Formats: sequence, C-alpha cells, structure tokens
Amino acid sequence: MAASPAFGAMGARAIRAGLVAKEFSAREIAESSLARIDAANKDLHAFLETTEQLALDQAAKVDAAVAAGELDACGLLAGVPVAFKDNMNLEGTHTTCSSKMLENYVSPFTATCVARTIEAGGIPLGKLNMDEFAFGSSTETSAFGPTKNPWDLSRVPGGSSGGSAAAVAAGLATVTLGSDTGGSIRQPGSFCGTVAVKPTYGVVSRYGVVAFGSSLDQVGPFTRSVEDAALAMNAIAGRDVLDCTSQDVSVDFTANLAEGVRGMRIGVVPAFMEAQGLTPEVKAKVEEAAEHLRALGAELVEVDLPNAQAAMSAYYVLGPCEAFSNLARFDSVRYGYCDPGHADLNSQYEASRAAGFGPETRRRVMLGSYLLSAGVYDKYYYPAQQVRTLITQDYARAYEQVDCILAPVSPRTSFKFGEVSDPTDMYLSDMFTISINIAGNGGMSLPVGLGADTHLPVGVQLISPAFKDENMLRAAAALETVYGPAPVAPAYADGKAGE
Ligand code: GLN
Repeated sequence: MAASPAFGAMGARAIRAGLVAKEFSAREIAESSLARIDAANKDLHAFLETTEQLALDQAAKVDAAVAAGELDACGLLAGVPVAFKDNMNLEGTHTTCSSKMLENYVSPFTATCVARTIEAGGIPLGKLNMDEFAFGSSTETSAFGPTKNPWDLSRVPGGSSGGSAAAVAAGLATVTLGSDTGGSIRQPGSFCGTVAVKPTYGVVSRYGVVAFGSSLDQVGPFTRSVEDAALAMNAIAGRDVLDCTSQDVSVDFTANLAEGVRGMRIGVVPAFMEAQGLTPEVKAKVEEAAEHLRALGAELVEVDLPNAQAAMSAYYVLGPCEAFSNLARFDSVRYGYCDPGHADLNSQYEASRAAGFGPETRRRVMLGSYLLSAGVYDKYYYPAQQVRTLITQDYARAYEQVDCILAPVSPRTSFKFGEVSDPTDMYLSDMFTISINIAGNGGMSLPVGLGADTHLPVGVQLISPAFKDENMLRAAAALETVYGPAPVAPAYADGKAGE
C-alpha cells in the first residue's frame, strides 16, 4: 500500500481539495499525522501530549460532512491538522504551561481560540511544548525538557512558542497556535522558518489562555504559507464576550493577498538596521527583502521610532509586574502543585511555589513583586507606562507615512542549547519584536530562506498599524511570491519523519 502523504506538510487548500476528491479521508489524516508525530517527537519533543481520541472524533465529523457533500459547512480548516501551545486550555487535556506547577492540571474548559480552530474543522493533534509560563526565547525553560529545532537538532527552536514553531517546520501540523507577549510567536517562527503571526492586541480572544502579561499577550498562528495564516486568522479572530479586550473584527484576512504591493508604502527603520548585535546575515536578508518589495512596486520610506530603543527596558518592568499578578493564582490552594505536610498556610505557599516554579519564573515573579512594592512602583512602573505611550505615539506617527514596516525579527539565527546562558543576553532575542507588543500593533515573521553564514532559517518582520493586520499579510504574500512558501525542514521532508 502506498504510504500516506505527510498531511501536516500540506496546506489547507490542498487538504480540502483532496478530501473533496476523496483522495484521502479525514480519518487517514488523523491517523497518519499521529503516527508521524509519534516517530518525530522522540527527537524533537515538540508535543507534550497528543489527543488521539479528539482527533479521531473530529475526523469522523469531517468525513461525515464530506460524505454528505457539505464540507463547506465544516469550516475553513476542514481536515487540517492543528495543535496548540500548552498554555491554551482544551477540555480534558493537560494544560501545563510546561511547568511542574501545573503538571497535573487537567482543563475543565476550552479556550476560545482553540474552540474556534476546532469549530472551523481543524483536527486537534495535541499540545505543544513552550518555555515555562511563556518566559523565555528558546524553550530551554520548559520543566519537561526543551524542544529541538527541526533544521538542526543541536539548536533551539526559539521561544516561548518553540513547540508550535517546530511542529509546523517539521510538517507535523499545518496550523499551530502560539502566544506572543514580547516576541514568542515571531522569534520561534524566524528560528524555525515558518510564517508566524502576532495579530494586533485584541484581534484574537485570550479567554482560556493562561495569562502572562495581560496588556501584551496575543494569540496567533504558525503556518508554512501566508494563505494558511490568513485562513487561520479568519477562523480565530473576532469578538468574544468572554474576553473584554477582544474586538469586533470583520476583516477577511485572505481578501487582499493577491493584490501585490504596488502602491503600498513600506517603512524601514534605519536605527534597527544599525542596531548593535544585528548579525550581517540577518541584516542582509532584511535588505534583500526590502529590495524585492521595491522591485514588486512598493515605495520604501525611512521612518523613525525614536523611543523604540527603550521598549526592552519598559517591557522588563511591565512584563514581570503583570506576570507577578497573574501567577499569584498558582498558590497551591486555588491552582497548582501543593507541597504536602505543612502546618501553616504560609509555609505551604512558600514551599509549593518554590518547588513548582522553575528559575526563570521565580526571577520574573520576584522582579514583579519588587517593582510593584511601595516606593519602587513610582520609580519604574509609572515611567515604563509613560515610555509605553511614547512608543505607541512613535508608531502612530510612522503610520501616517506608511502602510506597514519592514524590520528584522531576531538579531540572529537559532543558537545552540546552552549557548546563551546569561538571562539578559536571552532577553535581547526580542529587541526587534517587543516594541510591537508595547504599542499593540500587529507583527509577523515571514521566512526568507537561509542565512548566508549559518545556513539556518531567517525571518523578516512585517509590522502593521493596529487593526490593519491585512496590510502586513498583503506585503508578506507579495514577498512569498519571491521566496516561496516555507519548506518543511529537510530532515522531515518527503514523509521521512514517521517512517
Ligand atoms: N522572550 C520574551 C520573554 O521571555 C517574550 C516571551 C513571550 O512573548 N511570551 O519575556
């Protein structure tokens, strides 16, 4: 019997066509995807849990719709293999946030973004590894061991949504969801060579996604093509009464993908291109992408974001403060690991949190606790909020001149495990992504091939004005006509994984 195609390596459109033509069934998609994950995960460790029964149940629904000739009713992602970062609740599965604190937590409900992906017909394959509570840029802070980069197993996939990026790059899923507070969708997308979209704050509901920084967190998709990203956005975006920050979004994100960039004004930020730490190969790729955009008919305009260099400092005040408040619920009573045998509540709290949280999480919680204490608050938190306003105004001014901005995603390509051991060096991974969360705009990483020096994937960042995410998707689709959709990492291509 011929081997099943690698469904996770196919795009949503091809999957739909194959289902309609009865070339394969959704059950085959589910079974073969799960088998591939089983084989590939031994090396990659992208999945923390697979959801066989949910996948098969959903496949049966999709197959019934195909048999009835009603696939359209099944949704935009009918039969598409999907998976979720492990900070997203899916009823009946573990939602660990890659933390010992939540090792035994089983979700009693489903996050809106997850529910919408499944309602759109996606076949849920499982839950994906991440940095603990989304603190990190490499998945090395996962309490359950890191995920590896499918392009080179000695290297990190980026983070914190490293499992989400690696699963797509290895062709184990067509769409995965991640979350991005300072760069956690875009940076792993860049390291693993996938399309990776952080929509404008408020486009996607965070209901049921374990909170890190509530004023910064946003959910978005990883895919190998811009079209699939836009389809996934269509499935998950929009108002949800369960998240008061979510907005009515009535945009079809696929609508202008074929329009090209003629007539678009695209900003470039000279200060970003001169930033210390930006490697020559990444800089060269951004310049190359700019030239392609110009050749495709866009007008390039230099824009200034004078306060963007303060974004990192503001983020490492605001982020830990919000994380400190959000993580207070993991107190061993309401949620989380409970260290047994304590006579009084305070020692139970202390011992449980000391045992349940890893070092990076403890660092953030302690930092946030200090920054919000009396006397200190005025010195750091308040100015950080003022910086936030300045950065937001910078972007607003820039967008008077341009429709979107082109920038690096990460200053460098993927690094080896253990190579970046100083926390502040790790924080610099996000030097080009953080200001977008601070301002609340949309940002995405588009893969543009391999770096000339490291021969590892490089992404360029496209940044949209708030609630104009379709602008960056349009520019990305135009660039994709030059670079092609993202390939599956060579070691996992052609159905190698799972054989
Ligand atoms: N790497 C950044 C951090 O550790 C961003 C993480 C994120 O976006 N979740 O805070």
